[in-house]
Amino acid sequence: MPNLTIPAVPSILNADLHCHSVVSDGTLTPEALAERAKTNGVELWSLTDHDEVGGQHRALAAAKAQGMQYLTGTEISVSFAGETVHIVGLGFDPDDTDMQQGLLATRGGRGQRAQEMSDGLAKVGIKGAYEGALKFVGNPELISRTHFARFLVESGVCSETHEVFRKYLTEGKPGYVPHRWASLRDAVNWITNAKGMAIIAHPARYRFTPNEEYALFSEFKAHGGRGVEVVTGSHSASEYVKYAETAKEFGLAASRGSDFHSPEESRTDLGSLPFLPGSLTPVWELLADRIQ
Ligand code: AMP
Ligand code: MN
Ligand code: MN
Ligand code: MN
Repeated sequence: MPNLTIPAVPSILNADLHCHSVVSDGTLTPEALAERAKTNGVELWSLTDHDEVGGQHRALAAAKAQGMQYLTGTEISVSFAGETVHIVGLGFDPDDTDMQQGLLATRGGRGQRAQEMSDGLAKVGIKGAYEGALKFVGNPELISRTHFARFLVESGVCSETHEVFRKYLTEGKPGYVPHRWASLRDAVNWITNAKGMAIIAHPARYRFTPNEEYALFSEFKAHGGRGVEVVTGSHSASEYVKYAETAKEFGLAASRGSDFHSPEESRTDLGSLPFLPGSLTPVWELLADRIQ
């Protein structure tokens, strides 16, 4: 029997099913995140490092040591309609070799992209950004824009990471390099074939027209995707309402996660979000037999 202590009203579970460790672009170890999550009252936790499952066994052990329930997690980078979309996977087998191969391929090219980002920054007078960003990298396969942002803050170019993204790391800015990530179909299939659930991360963050957003949700659903983040650190209160409606329209379960990266940088702490609206089916209800 699975180790379940889900309360009678499942929507009010303090579940935090989205955050990052040093295995991707967070600043805390899986163990430190587990401790922080527990301190903040999290009952069901998932570590969802970008394109990587290397921290999953540590995170599970840390969750158990803290007395929290755990779902395996990852956040896969996908290219869709000219935009990068993130697909969270929960409750999959972290040792599934097809999924591991797919994530390895998705991570590939980050090193080359980082060199090109550094070249772009050099052209506007910011020297040594590749080496500078590397100092912040915990996993050499996962150099990300976040690590560049930390270097530009450290070197005094900007005062905080959001400013770096705005001025240097988003489309049209000197350190931005377009990149081809996984396909939506592959990402959903890797997760689903490894017995997990695919979930559209923070849908309000994508700059889609209504037609493109409709296409994302329809194709996601057609590939076997089953959930959407409704309450996330990336959404405003009105976006909770909007995507609660979208979840109902497409028959998707709803997820909740802070997207916590760092005590210094993140605006939303682990376990601190409002509960899911009671009218939605929480993803953890459908993943009950995958909870550890
Ligand atoms: P990458 O996968 O290298 O393209 O980096 C994407 C990561 O950059 C996201 O997962 C966030 O952690 C971070 N990020 C993206 N946009 C912003 C922003 N506007 N402010 C701060 N961090 C951001
Ligand atoms: Mn990130
Ligand atoms: Mn994301
Ligand atoms: Mn994230």
